[in-house]
Order: sequence, then C-alpha cells, then structure tokens
Amino acid sequence: MDEFELIRRFFTESGPARDDVVVGIGDDAALVRACNGDLAIATDTLIAGVHFPLETQPADIGYKALAVNLSDLAAVGATPAWFTLNLTLSEADPRWLEDFACGLFALAQRHRTQLIGGDTTRGPLSVTVTAHGFVPSGEALLRRGARPGDRVYVTGLLGDAALALRFLRREVDVPEESRLAVLTRLNRPEPRVEVGIALRGLASACIDVSDGLVADLGHILEESRLGATIELSRLPVSDAYDAAVADIGWSPALSGGDDYELCFTLPPERERALHQVAARFACTCTPIGVIEEQPGLRIRDKAGALVAAPFSGYNHFRA
Ligand code: ADP
Ligand code: MG
Repeated sequence: MDEFELIRRFFTESGPARDDVVVGIGDDAALVRACNGDLAIATDTLIAGVHFPLETQPADIGYKALAVNLSDLAAVGATPAWFTLNLTLSEADPRWLEDFACGLFALAQRHRTQLIGGDTTRGPLSVTVTAHGFVPSGEALLRRGARPGDRVYVTGLLGDAALALRFLRREVDVPEESRLAVLTRLNRPEPRVEVGIALRGLASACIDVSDGLVADLGHILEESRLGATIELSRLPVSDAYDAAVADIGWSPALSGGDDYELCFTLPPERERALHQVAARFACTCTPIGVIEEQPGLRIRDKAGALVAAPFSGYNHFRA
C-alpha cells in the first residue's frame, strides 16, 4: 500500500462531511468557508513512548490525538469545525490504520469536526493533529482575566489518568471493578467542548488541565498576575483514586497530567448562572479554591495547614 492509497483508503471518505468545506482532502490545500467570528487554532503532537505507552491500542491513539486538540479548543470556548492530521508511521499496517481511523472518526463524528487534510510520512510513530474552531469575536476564554475573589473550578475528576499510568507500570494496584473506568480516563479523555462553549461570558479565565492542575492553574495565575489558595479536601477524585491515595498520595491528582478537564475562574456573582447551565453538563464543576492578590499557589490540607506543591507538570526540555 503506497502513501496515496493509504490516504484514500483510511482517511478520505470516513468521518463527518460538513457543508462549509469547499475542498477537503486531495488537493494542494483545503478550502473552507471562513466565519465571521474568531478562528481558534490548536495543535498537539503525540509521540509513542512519550505521550502514550508503546502498547496503547491504535484506536485509542487515534481518539486521543484528536481529543487533546479538542480539549484545547474547549479551553478557549471554541466550537470545533475542522482538523488536519500529520501521521508518521514506521509501516503501513492496514489493521492498525483501520483501528486508528475508527477511534479518530468516532470522536470526530461526536463533535462534527471534519478531517480536511494532512501529511503522511514514514518514521517513528508520531501523530500531530491541528484543530480549528469558531468563537464569536472577543468571547474566547483566555488564561488571563482572573480577578481576586474569583472562585477556582475544575470539571470532572482529576488524577485517574495518572493513576492508570502507575497501574500500567505496576506501581500501584487498582481493584478489578475500577480498572476499565480508570484506564478509559487515560486512553479516552473526554474533551469538555460543551462546557467550554457554555463558559463563554461566565468564566473570567480558563485552561485545560493537560500537564496537571498545579502547572496549568499556575499558567492562569501567571497570565493574570495573581495567586490562589486551593483546598486538597475539595479536589474531585474518583472512588478508585480515593482508595489508592494512601499509596500514591495527592501528587498524581495535583500534577500527574493527562486529565483534559477544564480549570476556570468565576466571579462569585456568576455562581448562580453557572449552576443553571451546569445542570446540562455531562460532568460536574467543583469549586476548589479562590484567586488572591498574593502571587503563587497555596495548597491547604483538611486541617488548614499549607502543604508543599508537588513537582509541577511534564516539561520536555526540563534540565
Ligand atoms: P502535497 O504533495 O500537496 O503536500 P500530499 O501528497 O502530501 O499533498 O497529500 C495529498 C492530499 O492528501 C492532500 O490534500 C493532503 O492534505 C492529504 N493528506 C495527506 N496525508 C493525510 C492524512 N494523514 N490525513 C488526511 N489527509 C491527508
Ligand atoms: Mg504533503
């Protein structure tokens, strides 16, 4: 199977077709009907052995490559529209490609986002997706914009992806009945697209938690030139995480990464409005702390004592 047959067979006619795509896969450039508002563009690369364990199923790799990008669009409150796929493969294995495309297009279908182009090359496995979405002009959620007194919220649950990684490395056991749920959080994160869209006009700042809460909330604090205190007892974790906390502590939930939840700040007078829209969400929104003038992130335990922030976030070129 050569490059062009591969593109035709696995990528050209699968997935949703949108009527704002003038020319999709097959020419020198894709043409899309431009929008009135702002165009949000996000790109992320997944490298085998760095961003996912080598034994990860191809369907999960395809799903996750798109999911992490939709999570970035969610963080700015954008509605996904199109994406491109740059795929580097060591070999063109039809079974692998079929499963990869199946995971990819399952998520594309759910968010009506169309694959409009890409590039296909031979080399060590790596997948880059670039996702495009719309946001009404001036309404994008940014990292800057938090104010002292704003509440800090997170969606969903934190720490299960990091727990799953530790389980796969045999560093901790997870009871059989929770394994699937915990591994799903690592392999099939749910990008919080609907929440991001609903937070337009409500949240004062927003980020997606890809590198861990401490690192990513840290970006909001830096960009907003403020600090925060969060309470450990309020961190939303699963029962499986709670059961493992004696073994693994709080640092996977605080800085493990791969959660793909949203962390946002909300002026207290908008809390009622949030509760009204949050009833429709497929996930919870949990208040975990408050924005303060004093720079830096403070973490308090149940007794109110300050605990040291764990090593924060994955960094590819950290010395
Ligand atoms: P060019 O030589 O103009 O860069 P290519 O031969 O690389 O074009 O690709 C042919 C067409 O297939 C282009 O429309 C390109 O966007 C698309 N394409 C290539 N690889 C992929 C892929 N992995 N997924 C989707 N579209 C792809
Ligand atoms: Mg090319």
